[in-house]
Amino acid sequence: MFGRAPKKSDNTKYYEILGVPNTASPDDLKKAYRKAAIKNHPDKGGDPEKFKEIAQAYEVLNDPEKREIYDQYGEDALKEGMGGGGGGHDPFDIFQSFFGGGGFGGGGSSRGRRQRRGEDVVHPLKVSLEDLYNGISKKLSLSRNVLCTKCKGAGSKSGASLKCPGCQGKGMKVSIRQLGPMIQQMQHPCNDCRGTGEKINEKDRCPQCKGEKVVQEKKVLEVVVDKGMQNGQKITFPGEADEEPDTVTGDIVFILQQKEHPKFKRKGDDLFVEHTLTLTEALCGFQFVLTHLDNRQLIIKSQPGEVVKPDQFKAINDEGMPMYQRPFMKGKLYIHFTVDFPNTLTPELCKNLEAVLPARPKTQASDMELDECEETTLHDVNIDEEMRRKQQQQAQEAYDEDDDDMHGGGAQRVQCAQQ
Ligand SMILES: [Zn+2]
Ligand SMILES: [Zn+2]
Repeated sequence: MFGRAPKKSDNTKYYEILGVPNTASPDDLKKAYRKAAIKNHPDKGGDPEKFKEIAQAYEVLNDPEKREIYDQYGEDALKEGMGGGGGGHDPFDIFQSFFGGGGFGGGGSSRGRRQRRGEDVVHPLKVSLEDLYNGISKKLSLSRNVLCTKCKGAGSKSGASLKCPGCQGKGMKVSIRQLGPMIQQMQHPCNDCRGTGEKINEKDRCPQCKGEKVVQEKKVLEVVVDKGMQNGQKITFPGEADEEPDTVTGDIVFILQQKEHPKFKRKGDDLFVEHTLTLTEALCGFQFVLTHLDNRQLIIKSQPGEVVKPDQFKAINDEGMPMYQRPFMKGKLYIHFTVDFPNTLTPELCKNLEAVLPARPKTQASDMELDECEETTLHDVNIDEEMRRKQQQQAQEAYDEDDDDMHGGGAQRVQCAQQ
């Protein structure tokens, strides 16, 4: 596999870097690495080259297979052996996995090689129920970043850039905090280069984008709200978010937010409407005009002889919402009836009503028997309010009892005695 003579001279360097003998156990290596990595971390003022060496040494010695190759043949053999793999890992990634990650956006070891995906831009889009019923197209003007056409996103005239000195071209900085025995490390974008890892020479800056690589562009998007779309539904414009160099551009996503309608409520494909009838209408029939969401006037009327009871629902087929992508199919329109009863009636009116309404139930008790009953008075109540007050009272009593249990009388007495 390694067609070369063993070189005894270069298989001790990694041990020296970590400050351990070549007989060190995996545990010893780990401890030594942890100590050295913290001491030499660039963000703690350490030398980045030294830090890189430490990470590299640990990466090799921590892998039994690699350690064996290194012990036998030295560093060069390892480089040959790893040749195709793209040159090992990023020391920051090893550091990260060593301390158990820390929640920095996935797939660390391929960072820099795989193309990043830009963020999606999400906008809420307010629509009325009429818009969702009829469908609408809205033109929206947005400004977004696009790659500078002059430098094709390089940011410089020559196409060259320098490594950012703030983060050594990583784009990320790692900060470490020691909390007792715990080590907390956080990775965050470098603010010197805003996470790009590079700086552009001032003289070489592209005049159009001033080295920003991107320029702002106004763009008008036509958002088509189809009939039957729902509150919360997304309308996506793929690849229309901000452009960035070496990045797959994210999407612009509009999320529909339906404004409340004063008259209609929507549930799925159905619509609900409230309607109040007078007692006369409820008993003797009604007719009214309802203006629909597309301004059609619907005549809604009862059948001859039909009586509507308070809280009753009735429905009209095919007058609900159009179904999304099948707009010729529609849900139902439900009408919820409330009946407005008169508050009082004069005795004369009662007499007239009794003549036409169904007869009263026959009194079951005779006058003699009634004489032996007790008189009562019915009075008005606000049942919700009374029940609420009772519940509160019960809760307060339960709380007071708990309180008594906790600071039992005895303890209180002791306290009093001490004062
Ligand atoms: Zn430019
Ligand atoms: Zn930087």
